Amino acid sequence: MPGSFKTQAVVLRSIRYGEADRVLHLYSAARGRIGAIAKGSRKPRTRFGGRLEPFFRLDMVLHEGRGDLATVTGVHTVDAYPNLRSSGPALAAAARGCDAVLRLLDSSEANPAAYNLLCRYLALLDGQEDDGGALETDGAAGLATALAFRLKLALSAGFAPELQTCSRCGEADGLTAFSGAAGGVVCGACERDGFEISAEAHRFMLDALGRPLAQAPVATNGALRMAERAITTTLEHHAHVQLRAAA
Ligand SMILES: [Zn+2]
Repeated sequence: MPGSFKTQAVVLRSIRYGEADRVLHLYSAARGRIGAIAKGSRKPRTRFGGRLEPFFRLDMVLHEGRGDLATVTGVHTVDAYPNLRSSGPALAAAARGCDAVLRLLDSSEANPAAYNLLCRYLALLDGQEDDGGALETDGAAGLATALAFRLKLALSAGFAPELQTCSRCGEADGLTAFSGAAGGVVCGACERDGFEISAEAHRFMLDALGRPLAQAPVATNGALRMAERAITTTLEHHAHVQLRAAA
């Protein structure tokens, strides 16, 4: 249906197009993924200012015509996340987070859990929710938060790994391996195509899903890499997407 609509959205990707335009990949509160064009947005005195850059959270007015891309007609900044932009590790983490949203959430259905999670992650990387000291965006703490974000994103997209019982036979004990094909932890008897997973890596994933993003559990680098492999292989098998390395 052609016409104008309003939504809040985060800019995932902003691509120069033609002489003076930009093509935007947006993740929106009201309509999930949106492709849009901002005409004249690269002219010196554009009314869009510098707001159509990645990671900006915007109130937008978009016009839907016959083409695939909506046209941006109005933009107001909700949050520019200025601190995030001045930190190399935070920028890199935000870019990987937005890339994961691009690959995993391509539906034009609203997904409030995914949208709110993305905004919360950007706010965390911007240092808005820290309780004493800025969020560490690199090292093990940064990786733990990045993986907690991925797990929660997978959950919001309907692809969270099974972590409670063996994902093949339902056994609750002796869960010593993980199978991307089975989509979760597996017991010793069902291990065939899985890889070994430590109790610490298993616990990390359970805790990461059970806690707010700002309180991602700590774990050793080895456990975090196992958890990353578990998340990555689950999404490869079940969502058919390949994520970039988390850090
Ligand atoms: Zn089993």
